[in-house]
Amino acid sequence: MTQSSVVPPDKHHAGVPTVTEEKLMVAVRVRPLRTDEGPRIIHVVSDKMLVLEEEADNKRDVLRQRRINDKNYIYDRVFGEESTQEEVYDTVCAPLVGDTLKGFAGAVFAYGATGAGKTHTMTGLMTRALNHLFTSIAESEGPSAYEVKMSYIEIYNENIRDLLNPSAGPLELRDEGSSGAPVVAGLSEVCAKSAGHVAELLARGDRARIAEPTQANQHSSRGHALLSVTVSKQEGGCTQRGRLFLIDLAGSERAGLRARRLEGAHINRSLLALGNCIMALSGGARYVNYRDSKLTRLLREVLGGRCRTAMVAHVAPGAAHRDTTRSTLHYAQRASVITNRIERDVVETPMQLSQYRSVINDLREEIARLKLKMKDSRSREDLRAVEDEMDEKQPENAEHLKTLREAIVSTFKQQMRLRRRLMELDSHLLGLALDAERQHAAISHWEARFNRLYKPINLSGSRLSTQQSYR
Ligand code: ADP
Ligand code: MG
Repeated sequence: MTQSSVVPPDKHHAGVPTVTEEKLMVAVRVRPLRTDEGPRIIHVVSDKMLVLEEEADNKRDVLRQRRINDKNYIYDRVFGEESTQEEVYDTVCAPLVGDTLKGFAGAVFAYGATGAGKTHTMTGLMTRALNHLFTSIAESEGPSAYEVKMSYIEIYNENIRDLLNPSAGPLELRDEGSSGAPVVAGLSEVCAKSAGHVAELLARGDRARIAEPTQANQHSSRGHALLSVTVSKQEGGCTQRGRLFLIDLAGSERAGLRARRLEGAHINRSLLALGNCIMALSGGARYVNYRDSKLTRLLREVLGGRCRTAMVAHVAPGAAHRDTTRSTLHYAQRASVITNRIERDVVETPMQLSQYRSVINDLREEIARLKLKMKDSRSREDLRAVEDEMDEKQPENAEHLKTLREAIVSTFKQQMRLRRRLMELDSHLLGLALDAERQHAAISHWEARFNRLYKPINLSGSRLSTQQSYR
């Protein structure tokens, strides 16, 4: 997105392990409940699961009906209302900052409806990420080899604005980078010297973002703010370049079909296109259409490259936001379900089995340790008696353990089969929904063109000739 193009990391870094799989980490953050938004309907059950309480439509058996309607959602990580900025940073962003220093690209997206906490999270991540970068560089062997540059833009109604130089007009996006990466012509890229300097730049950018306080809410709910940090390292005549994108997306309440019908198709082109790209990429599609919007064109390198991407979906816990909350949770779940499919065979299954094995090993060690302890504390005769007793019981225990183990494995396998099937169905459903959206967009597009065509014809009265000349 800047004048400089990005060098693929692995070219310069044979020694550093390359990230081989594309990975989208999906986390959900629930912001604290406010008094004006009704009772709490989101319950965080564990650090991976939450429950959305649905309204009971059966008045006679409210409790039972509720239990049937309530829905569990599982993600890579769930941050509850008490979660701290530090916790979110450590889980979601810190690994990406480590990658950036090694020459990789990474991105964190904040998704969710307006008021759900996106900007709160991103502000925390931005300052912490830059502090982390500067500290790591200072502690490295050759701090002078590094250079940190940042740019901060806003995409509002498909116009790009430089938040570090807000007086410049809308900037143009050109496909002229040497690596084919698009370039934002005239974008200011500021050399960041320290964490304090960055904080000052970010504050300046945020002030520019809300130039008119009366419209601040409307503005930030429609615009995407995109911070890009480039870390260059000179190394033996080569430049290794890592990038980190931190993106505060527009409010997701405008991404739905209904909103588009009300407000026109262009408003959330970037948000929709981003969703389509993420889904296509995660589903392993051969062709991904990045050209649909400015945001996806800019992020092509992070989305399609070998980099780590994380999405933090934000929800408010109160009943007043039930519909938007539900749709955010669905969006995030679809994304995480599809990516899990890619990972599952590689990571999840062996990990679970290995965990299982390690528990058994731990138990064995514990038994051995206890035996030893008993040897120390009891007299030899006592010990012999106990050992005899244990030997007698051993076959019985082993048999019992074996049955239990088999039962666990078979349940686990069945669970995996069901999960796989569910994921396949979900992914299929998603494909259908995306197709429908695309068709809808095409229809709107053609309707718009025909409307344009139709007006001058009616006025001039020479319908046939105008239509022919248009054709
Ligand atoms: P968004 O950017 O999604 O529109 P904001 O980040 O502006 O939402 O959050 C809306 C309000 O809620 C702000 O006043 C913000 O300070 C507060 N808020 C959001 N998330 C949290 C949180 N995790 N802890 C405390 N306050 C929060
Ligand atoms: Mg915001």
